[in-house]
Amino acid sequence: MTAVDLGLPGVPGTNNGAPRPDTPALIDTFGRIASDLRVSLTDRCNLRCTYCMPAEGLDWMPGGEMLSEAELGRLIRIAVEQLGVTNVRFTGGEPTLRKGIETIIAAAAALTPRPRISMTTNAIGLSRRARSLADAGLDRINVSLDTLRQDRFTEITRRDRLSDVLDGLAAAQSAGLAPVKVNSVLLRGVNDDEAVPLLRYCVDNGYHLRFIEQMPLDPQHGWNRSEMVTAEQILDMLRAGFELTPSPTPRGAAPAERWLVDGGPAEVGVIASVTRPFCGDCDRTRLTADGALRSCLFSQTETDLRGPLREGASDDDIAQLWRSTMWAKLAGHQINEAGFAQPLRPMSAIGG
Ligand code: SAM
Ligand code: SF4
Repeated sequence: MTAVDLGLPGVPGTNNGAPRPDTPALIDTFGRIASDLRVSLTDRCNLRCTYCMPAEGLDWMPGGEMLSEAELGRLIRIAVEQLGVTNVRFTGGEPTLRKGIETIIAAAAALTPRPRISMTTNAIGLSRRARSLADAGLDRINVSLDTLRQDRFTEITRRDRLSDVLDGLAAAQSAGLAPVKVNSVLLRGVNDDEAVPLLRYCVDNGYHLRFIEQMPLDPQHGWNRSEMVTAEQILDMLRAGFELTPSPTPRGAAPAERWLVDGGPAEVGVIASVTRPFCGDCDRTRLTADGALRSCLFSQTETDLRGPLREGASDDDIAQLWRSTMWAKLAGHQINEAGFAQPLRPMSAIGG
């Protein structure tokens, strides 16, 4: 491969000065290649999880600032056809609140090569829509569920909707959105006694459970390292109820470390974003609902794609902007380093 100069200024935290290989792929200075696109469809949500949003919600993005269906379709097409993206995950906010989500999914599913299409959702309303989402081309789903107790669900999400979520999970399973994955965040003193019941429930129902360490991405800046339930603590709690052995399946770029439960085939995953960062294997690139491109959840900078799109940029111009943004991706998220600063956007406006 020959080198091309993208005219990037020196970016602290990257392998400065390294020549960018002449490849269409989204490579960075550390040799990582992003092939997994996370697309946030809205920053709005119908829940108010305490670790994600304040009770009153946030200042939602104005409609005109959000990418239209056509703009989203074009950017996803460029990512797949020109930049080597093979996986597209829709998220938010709550992606199912986005009008026309089936059309957006169908457009992605019509691309060649067809990307694998997934969604991260709180599953409210999924009991009615899982089938139409699957028919549109959705392949897999991740559902967030932090507790099986109704009182706690209402405390954590500030909405009394546990039964909707459980029905949504079952509907996703029936619609063939397999494997149905469940994401759980454990909060100290709130639901940290539910590691074993959550895993029992998921194993019994054929769902794949992954615990996620809480990250400093909440707009209230309430994250506290000493309060965080760590991956090691989660594994210790699980070992009180199950025998865990390391999964023989290679991890690749997947963020979860996986364990066989009682000898398998059921597995449980733990995503130790804070205590055992997996940035060295990251293959993600992110697009916010208002058209900002981010190379990392924790990026302090982003690249506006909406402006160029609306000013008539060509597909090649957009692809090149995308490549130069990813080329400048930092080595890691720096949560564990002195001077770490949270990004300005909270998780719900980036896309979790
Ligand atoms: N509303 C959808 C949902 O809840 O699945 C999609 C967006 S939500 C931001 C995506 C995931 O991020 C959820 O599993 C949620 O639990 C997780 N999340 C939100 N804030 C988090 C934080 N500070 N640390 C770790 N995970 C977080
Ligand atoms: Fe909404 Fe998901 Fe945030 Fe909960 S975690 S408030 S469901 S965006």
